[in-house]
Amino acid sequence: MKLLEEKILHDGNIRAGNVLKVDSFLNHQIDVPFIEMLGKEFYRRFGNEKVDKILTIETSGIGIAAVTATYFKVPVLFAKKSSGSNMDKDVYFTQIYSYTHNKTNTVTIAKRFLQAGDRVLIIDDFLANGCALEGLLDMVRQAGAQVAGIGIVIEKGFQGGGDKLRAKGLPLVSLAIVDAMDSATGKISFRKEARE
Ligand code: 5GP
Repeated sequence: MKLLEEKILHDGNIRAGNVLKVDSFLNHQIDVPFIEMLGKEFYRRFGNEKVDKILTIETSGIGIAAVTATYFKVPVLFAKKSSGSNMDKDVYFTQIYSYTHNKTNTVTIAKRFLQAGDRVLIIDDFLANGCALEGLLDMVRQAGAQVAGIGIVIEKGFQGGGDKLRAKGLPLVSLAIVDAMDSATGKISFRKEARE
């Protein structure tokens, strides 16, 4: 998506360890009208699918999942990383390694919110190695639910997670795919096929 690529070029910063910071519009401060446009684009790409629920993971996926849900008119379910005492006991759980925090979290979803036959659209802010998505897919499988689609705002194509999922035949749409980025020059290049 051209407007997203331009926004990344204008506002993004490349940090050590191949981390792309876009916290002026997506990951810290949220530019709501801008991400509403991204949500509308996910609706254009997946609106023909039957979607019962949008699934994401806390924290950064929630904003984009919520605006996307306003187009689909379905609830948003987010997998939780913390297991407080007020958490449901009857949960699906999985382990997810966090690339940006360099730690493994146990992530949970209450069974009462995800059931066999539910068709879920998975939405997340970033896709890098694919650990977060693999974890969400694992819990969708545990529930006997179905994947209606996967929508990602920014895929870092050079880390390979997206292509592994495409090779498995999963319906993955990334609105921008970063092919290469260089922290020394600040140069970012994009894969053309995400410009549909
Ligand atoms: P993966 O599990 O695919 O390796 O990484 C996806 C998760 O890590 C996303 O949910 C996102 O929160 C975080 N992440 C991975 N790479 C980046 C990055 O370059 N920038 C930001 N802001 N988050 C990232």
